[in-house]
Amino acid sequence: MAVIVDKEQCIGCGACVSTCPFGAIVMEEDKAVITDACTVCGACIDVCPVGAITRPAAGKPAADTSEYQGVWVYIEQFQGKARNVGHELIGEGRKLADAMKQELAAVLIGDGVEALAKDMFASGADKVYLIDGTEYKHYSTDAYTIAITDLIRTYKPSVILMGATNDGRDLGPRVACRVGTGLTADCTNLGIDEETGLVAWTRPAFGGNIMATILCPNHRPQMGTVRPNVFKRPEPDMSRNGEVIRVAGKVKAADIRTKLIEILSLTDTASCNLEEAEFIVAGGRGMGKPENFTLIEELATVLGGAVGASRAAVDAGWKPAIHQVGQTGKTVAPKVYIACGISGAIQHLAGMSTSDTIIAINKDVSAPIFKSADFGIVGDVLEVLPVLIEEIKKLKQSC
Ligand code: FAD
Ligand code: SF4
Ligand code: SF4
Repeated sequence: MAVIVDKEQCIGCGACVSTCPFGAIVMEEDKAVITDACTVCGACIDVCPVGAITRPAAGKPAADTSEYQGVWVYIEQFQGKARNVGHELIGEGRKLADAMKQELAAVLIGDGVEALAKDMFASGADKVYLIDGTEYKHYSTDAYTIAITDLIRTYKPSVILMGATNDGRDLGPRVACRVGTGLTADCTNLGIDEETGLVAWTRPAFGGNIMATILCPNHRPQMGTVRPNVFKRPEPDMSRNGEVIRVAGKVKAADIRTKLIEILSLTDTASCNLEEAEFIVAGGRGMGKPENFTLIEELATVLGGAVGASRAAVDAGWKPAIHQVGQTGKTVAPKVYIACGISGAIQHLAGMSTSDTIIAINKDVSAPIFKSADFGIVGDVLEVLPVLIEEIKKLKQSC
């Protein structure tokens, strides 16, 4: 729904046209006309000298919000193993649920995945909603959307958190649309808005130049996807227990329009699995040319880790975007992050600064990366890396 121009009041000054960051206002017969490109950002409202532009009144709540109770975390699993992001979100969901004085539940969907429930309780869940069956063996948009939509309509949660992974980014918006609510995608922080008690979803906006905090006052559930590795996985407490609620899945084979024929690994999955890697070796523009990335790959292989890249290296076409670390790439938190020929721009640090140990190799002693590094090597990365690889190989052989 766009902002509204009162044509009687509009004096045709054009101030709103040049202010609109989305080019959403055109002049027709000396009157401002708002087009479909309007995002209701509100910038034009303040500049209109005669107060001709107003925001549409907020609609009535589309849901009886008091009926919706509890915080849910969708647990993404692959081949029967829960992804880390599920645990990270249980940790964060626990804080939200405690602040809201409500229960925390994990939503587990798969084939033969009931055993994972105990880990959900250990991470902090009070309940697990379990849908188990052969239809759910592999993630499919249709089956999982039907399953979660049905759970929401039956049990009415107030909040749902999902990982901003490939599956979560596919599932979240589709479920939100089916149940008639909004979704804040790719959040980097969560909290409770003091005034309203609603979840405050924070995410980068306008190309990462500002952080926006978004509330969902009128619709339920409040939904969002959260980047992996933004939050730490909680320490498991194996003494915790909870209730498993088994829910019969209503999906029939005919509901799944996409048939999975074969899973093909098009990339070296180990080197790409940045979000779960314990070691990451990342290269930047300082690697000089794409061929030199073989050193990064070799060190990553020796350490059993993944390969990262700065945006400069990705933009130069030296590595595919799947390897990019940073604000517009992946957020990672390995035990060890080795930054090679990376200057340490704020946007790169945003994706890796929570790594346990950061090692930087850079020929410029004043490179900003050294301020964030636990260990620094000042030198030419093309000379340092071969030595490092050899020494680690020797160490491994002697173990
Ligand atoms: P440079 O900044 O060019 O640094 C290269 C470094 O290599 C220098 O410090 C140099 O001293 C060193 N060097 C050169 N040769 C050698 C050598 N032989 N041996 C050792 N060291 C050497 N960037 C990201 O990485 N990820 C993001 O997600 C991201 N998102 C962004 C979002 C926005 C909105 C914007 C505006 C920018 C974003 N950027 C991002 C870009 C970021 O600002 C930097 O431009 C980028 O991180 C720089 O990459 P770099 O460190 O590889 O290159
Ligand atoms: Fe443009 Fe924002 Fe005004 Fe919409 S509200 S017309 S997007 S300035
Ligand atoms: Fe009309 Fe106000 Fe826009 Fe000027 S700023 S063109 S008065 S709507």
